[in-house]
Amino acid sequence: MGRTKIIATLGPATADKAIMERLILLGVNVFRLNFSHGDHDFHAKLISDARSVAEDMQRPIALLQDLSGPKIRVNPMEPVQLAEGDLLHVWRTKPPQGAKNAISINYPDILDGVSIGDQVCIADGAICAAVEHVDADKVTIIILTGGKLTTGKGVNIPVGQVRLSAMTEKDKKDIQFGISRKIDLIALSFVQSADDIRQAKELVKMEGEDIPVFAKIEKASALDNIEEIILAADGLMIARGDLGVEMGPYIVPVMQKRIVAKARDRGMPVIIATQMLMSMVSSSYPTRAEVSDIANAVLDGADAVMLSDETTIGDFPEEAVKVISATINETEKYYPWYREFVEMRDSRKAIAASAVALSQRIKVSAIVTFTETGLVALMVARQRPEVRIIAVTSNAKTYRRLAIVWGVESILVERKYQDSDKAILNFYKRAVKQKRIDPDEPFIVTISRHSTKTGTTNVVQLVDKQSTEELQNLAYKQKK
Ligand code: PGA
Ligand code: MN
Repeated sequence: MGRTKIIATLGPATADKAIMERLILLGVNVFRLNFSHGDHDFHAKLISDARSVAEDMQRPIALLQDLSGPKIRVNPMEPVQLAEGDLLHVWRTKPPQGAKNAISINYPDILDGVSIGDQVCIADGAICAAVEHVDADKVTIIILTGGKLTTGKGVNIPVGQVRLSAMTEKDKKDIQFGISRKIDLIALSFVQSADDIRQAKELVKMEGEDIPVFAKIEKASALDNIEEIILAADGLMIARGDLGVEMGPYIVPVMQKRIVAKARDRGMPVIIATQMLMSMVSSSYPTRAEVSDIANAVLDGADAVMLSDETTIGDFPEEAVKVISATINETEKYYPWYREFVEMRDSRKAIAASAVALSQRIKVSAIVTFTETGLVALMVARQRPEVRIIAVTSNAKTYRRLAIVWGVESILVERKYQDSDKAILNFYKRAVKQKRIDPDEPFIVTISRHSTKTGTTNVVQLVDKQSTEELQNLAYKQKK
C-alpha cells in the first residue's frame, strides 16, 4: 500500500457492504459522507455499514462528514434550456405562477449585493451570465453561455458578495447527527475566516465532543485569510471544484502547491479533492492528464487524495480506486522524502524530529509512536520519513482519525501501559504475531517514560531483537 491516503466518497454507487469491503482492500482509508446530498436515513445506513465492514476487517477506517455549508442553490423548478442572449429572472421570493425563465434561490439575501454587470455562474460554471437589471423583486441576468438549468444547481456570484456564515441551520443539525453517529472527522464548506472554524468547533464542544474540523478552501476570502484559518483548523481540504468556480480554474494548481506546503509546515493533514478521475464516472480507464494530476498531488505532499462523483454516482468506483492506488504506488518511487523541521521549545515535536533523524542514520523497519492524542504521529509524518510510521494507541478515536494522515498505520491496543517497557513488549508481541513487523528488524520507538499523563512523550529508543528478548525475560521473571 502507498503512503498517500485515499478518500472515497460514499453514494448510491457504493452503498453496499461488499463494495465498501472491496474498496478498503483496494486501498481506501477514509470514507467521506457528502451531506449536500441524501437525508439522515441515507447517511445513517452508510455510516453503520461502513463501520461494521471496517470493524469486521479490523482496519482503521475514518468517516469524514462533509457539511454542505451555505452553497447558493437553485430552488425546485421545472428544467429549462437556456441559450446565449436569453434572460433569466432570479426572484427574491417564489416566482409568480406561469412566469417564464423564472427561478429563485435558497439565499435570496445574496441578491442585495449584486450590481449590473456582475458575473453569475451556475452549475460549476457550465452556465454563465451577467446581471442586466436589478429590481426590487428580482434580478435579471442575461445568459452568456447556455445550458440546461435544473433544480439544486449551485449558483456563484463572485462579486459584491454578502457575508454568509459557513454554518447553516442544516449544518448545525447535521453536526449533531454526525456526533450521534460517532463520525471521526468533520469538513466545513465555504469557510471564509477562522471564525467559521471556531464556531463549528464550539458547537462540537457543546455536544461534548472534540472532533477534528477540516476547513474546505473554496472561497477567495479563504485564500485571503489562509494563515488564520490554518491556525484554527485541524486540517485542510483543497476543494478545487468550487475554488475553480470562484477564482477561475487557472489559479487552482499553484494554490494547491502553496496551500499544501503551508499545511505541511504546521503538520496538519491536507486533502486534495475534486475531479481527480472525472472521466472514470463513465469510463473504466483514466485520461493521462488525470493520472498526472494524482501524481502531482502526491508529489506536492498531500496527505490524502479524494474521489467524489467517481465513487458516488460513477459506473466504475472500484476501477477508480485501483487507478488512484496504482498511481500513488508508482509516484512514491520518486517521492521527495524527508524534510527536517527544526523547532524550539515543543518537546514532542523535538522528539518526533529526533526519531526521524535517527531513522535516516540507521536501518530500521519503522518508527513506532505510542500516542494517545496522535500528535507525535502527525509530527513524525510531516517529515515524510522513508521508514514506516506505526501509531500505537489505546484511543479508538485516534486510531481511526490517523487514517487520513500521510503514511500512518495505526494499531489499537486495549490499554495504555504505565510502564513503557511493558508497552513496547506488548506491541512487539502483537505486531509480530499479526505479521505487521519483521521480528528480526530493529525499530525506533517514541514513548513517554515515568509519566502516566498524555502529551508527555520524552523518549526516543532504538529497539532491536536482543532488547526485546531481554524485555521478555524480564517480564517472565517478574511474573514468576
Ligand atoms: P463539494 O466540495 O463536493 O462539497 O462541492 C468540493 C469542491 O468544491 O471541490
Ligand atoms: Mn465545494
